[in-house]
Amino acid sequence: MTFRFCPGCAAPLTEIQAGNDAGLLGCPDGHYVHYANPAVTAFAFIEDDGRYLALRRAHEPLVGTWDLPGGFIEAGEYPDDAICREILEETALEITDLEVFGAWTGQYGEGGKWTVDIAYHCRRAAGTFTMSAEKSEAAWLSLDEFPLPAFNSERLALDVLRSCHS
Ligand SMILES: [Zn+2]
Repeated sequence: MTFRFCPGCAAPLTEIQAGNDAGLLGCPDGHYVHYANPAVTAFAFIEDDGRYLALRRAHEPLVGTWDLPGGFIEAGEYPDDAICREILEETALEITDLEVFGAWTGQYGEGGKWTVDIAYHCRRAAGTFTMSAEKSEAAWLSLDEFPLPAFNSERLALDVLRSCHS
């Protein structure tokens, strides 16, 4: 998607000619500069007795592929809070021993928004697993049998976990 108008005054965006933002699109009256910054997401490998939760996506992008619990971090939200919120929303589980073990770049579907994705490892602590409508199937699987996940960062994170455990 291309941004064409100032969100402040609706003037057509034009290329900025000088200064630090030269070459970017901006409002001619200076209300707005369009930075193509990535969105930030968090996802988690939830461990329970050597098995990890995989969820099958019920929605686009990449509907039907396997995925980890997680999602977009909201403005002002701390990543640790975001991943706990997403896990609770998607699984009804509470978790413990939350640890970041990597961050990578990805894209939210082909041609989609660029993202920076924070990978967490945690353990299942409490709650009864309940799958959200965002997902169509769930499985607790060893790292060996874990399916190829939907997103680049999830795949790289899976490689790291496998190399730690081999
Ligand atoms: Zn404007």
